[in-house]
Amino acid sequence: MGRHEPAALIVGGGIAGMQAALDIADAGFPVYLVEREPSIGGRMAQLDKTFPTLDCSSCILTPKMVDVGQHPNIELMTYSEVESVETDGAAFDARVRRKPRYVDVDVCTGCGDCAEACRMKGRVSAGFDAGMANRSAIYVPFPQAVPLKYTVDPEACLYLTRGVCGRTFKCKDACPANAIDLEQESKLIDIRVTSIIVATGFDMMEPQTKPEYAYGIYPEVMTALEFERLCDASGPTRGQIRMNGKEPRDVVFIKCVGSRDPHTGVPYCSRVCCMYTAKHAHLVRDRVPDANITVFYMDVRAFGKGYEEFYDRVKHERVTYRRGEPAEVYRQGDKLVVLAEDTMLGQPVEVEAELVVLATAVVPRTDVEDVAGLLGLGRSPDGFLQGGGARPEVNGSLHPVDTNVDNVFVAGCCESPRDIPDTVAQAKAAASSALRVLVRARKAAPAEKGGGE
Ligand SMILES: Cc1cc2nc3c(=O)[nH]c(=O)nc-3n(C[C@H](O)[C@H](O)[C@H](O)COP(=O)(O)OP(=O)(O)OC[C@H]3O[C@@H](n4cnc5c(N)ncnc54)[C@H](O)[C@@H]3O)c2cc1C
Repeated sequence: MGRHEPAALIVGGGIAGMQAALDIADAGFPVYLVEREPSIGGRMAQLDKTFPTLDCSSCILTPKMVDVGQHPNIELMTYSEVESVETDGAAFDARVRRKPRYVDVDVCTGCGDCAEACRMKGRVSAGFDAGMANRSAIYVPFPQAVPLKYTVDPEACLYLTRGVCGRTFKCKDACPANAIDLEQESKLIDIRVTSIIVATGFDMMEPQTKPEYAYGIYPEVMTALEFERLCDASGPTRGQIRMNGKEPRDVVFIKCVGSRDPHTGVPYCSRVCCMYTAKHAHLVRDRVPDANITVFYMDVRAFGKGYEEFYDRVKHERVTYRRGEPAEVYRQGDKLVVLAEDTMLGQPVEVEAELVVLATAVVPRTDVEDVAGLLGLGRSPDGFLQGGGARPEVNGSLHPVDTNVDNVFVAGCCESPRDIPDTVAQAKAAASSALRVLVRARKAAPAEKGGGE
C-alpha cells in the first residue's frame, strides 16, 4: 500500500463496508478496512438465500470477501477496533487496536487441527450459528471466513480464563505450523486517512422484549436469524428444517415483532421483514411440502424491484396470510397455539404451531453511541446514525450518505434498516463521496502528508 497516498478508513466489514472498500481500492486509493469480528462478511454471511431472487447468499458474498482479502490496495484489519480519531481539519489520525487472536496469522494455515484437539470442542456456543450449534474455544466463525485464520476465544479458552488447560496445551500440540501464541497481546496501529466511511450495521431486537411470544420458554419459538441458520446447508441441521427431531407440520411466522410499535421504542418499519418472511415461507414450502404455513402480518410492504411479484408467488404456494398481530403464544398438549385477532374477519383465531418464527425488529447496534462519540456523529430520533439530514444546510434526501462531520460518510444498516440492494447502492454512493475527497487531496498532495501507517 502506498505510504503517501490519501487513504480511506472504513469501519465495518459487512456487505456495505466491503463494497465501499472495493470501489475505493479499485479507483487506486489505499483503504484500511477495520472489522471487529475475526472475519468480514457481516450478517449477509449468516443468510441462506436472498430475496427476491433466492440466490445463495454465500455464493454472492464469498467471491467479494475473497476480492477484499486479496486486493493490493486494501489493508484488512480484522478482529480490530478503532479506538480514537482526531482531526487537524485536513485529515484524520486514527488509532486502531488489533485484538490478540493468540494465533500468528502469518503462520496459521487454517487447517483446523487445533479446533479438533481443543478440550472445549463442542462446548462453546457458536455466535455465527445464532447459538444453535457449538464450536471449540479456538475457531473460525464459518468455513468461508476471510481471513481463514483461527482465533482463540478469550472467554472460552481454559488457559486464558483459568490459567490451565490440563497437562499440555492441546491446540499448541496439535498445530503443525506452531502458530499458537497464548501470550500474544493487542497491538496499536496509527493510521492517517483523508476520508472515513462508517458501515457498522445493525442488531436485532431481543425477542424477550415481546414476552407474550414466549421466546426462550418454548424451544419451538425462534428468531428469523436463527431460522436462516436452520435453513442454511452449512448450518447446524445442514439445511433441514427440523424441530424436536422431526419436520414441523404447522409453521407460523409473526411479522413486525417489535417494529412499528410505540411500546417497544421502535416506531419505524424494519423494512426487510416482509420480504425475508416471504422468503422463509417459501423455504418451508420447498423443504416441507405438506406443511401448513401461516403468516401473521400488519401490512405487507413489498416495495423493491421484483418484491411484489415474489410476495404474490409465495401467496400462491399455499401460504395463508392472516392480517392481525398475535396476542400470545402458549402451549396446548404437544403443540403451541398462536392466538390472534384476524382483523380481516374481525374475529379471534387460534392457529396450531410446531414452529413459530419471530421477525424481530432491526435496531441500532448496542454500541452505536460509542461509534457516534468516536467521530462526533449525530443520531436520528430512531437511534441510528444520522445521514444527510444532520446538516441543516444539506437536504437529507439528496445527500443520504453525508454526516454532520466533513469527509465522514455512512453506508448500510448503521444509518437505517435496508435490504442488500439498497445497502450496496448506498455503499457505492459513500465510496463515490469519499473518492471526491481523496482525489482532491491527491491533487493537493505535494503540500499534504498523506496516509500510511
Ligand atoms: C433475518 C434476516 C434476513 C435477511 N434476508 C435478506 C435477504 O434475503 N435479502 C436482502 O436483500 N436483505 C436481507 N436482510 C438484510 C441484510 O442482512 C442487510 O441488508 C445487510 O446485512 C446490511 O449490511 P451492512 O453491511 O449494513 O451491516 P452488517 O451486515 O450488520 O455488517 C456490519 C459489519 O460491521 C461490523 N462492525 C460493527 N461495529 C463495528 C465496529 N465498531 N468496528 C468495526 N466493525 C464493526 C460488524 O461486525 C459487521 O461485520 C436480512 C436481514 C435479516 C435480519
